Amino acid sequence: MSQDCIFCKIAQKEIPSQIVYEDEQVLVFHDIQPAAPVHVLAIPKRHIDHLLAIEESDAPLLTHMMKVIGKVAASLGLEEKGFRVVSNIKEDGGQTVGHLHWHILGGRSMQWPPG
Ligand code: 5GP
Ligand code: ZN
Repeated sequence: MSQDCIFCKIAQKEIPSQIVYEDEQVLVFHDIQPAAPVHVLAIPKRHIDHLLAIEESDAPLLTHMMKVIGKVAASLGLEEKGFRVVSNIKEDGGQTVGHLHWHILGGRSMQWPPG
């Protein structure tokens, strides 16, 4: 756990969140400021800064996370029309919370390229 990390606190239930999926390693919860009709965040419970900080030994966790993301998206009704998965990394990526996470966005048509 990283001391001042909001998402570590959410993973530890020190800060409440609207949880949509949880297991030992992963938490998925609603974004507090949704950017789409469906906008949830998938995080590893263990603190990792971002994708540049992952190790080879994180491979099972990351594979598991990708499967969870697909299952949760389907459970939220996004299977038929599709959805977008985004991980913002550092400043230019637009990362505002320094704990690895994937946005799952859906329920409307997404634009490309992103802003
Ligand atoms: P980033 O900008 O790092 O890619 O994404 C961080 C996301 O976390 C943002 O979409 C923001 O709305 C969301 N967020 C920030 N603080 C909280 C919080 O305390 N609770 C929840 N549920 N979401 C948060
Ligand atoms: Zn953290």
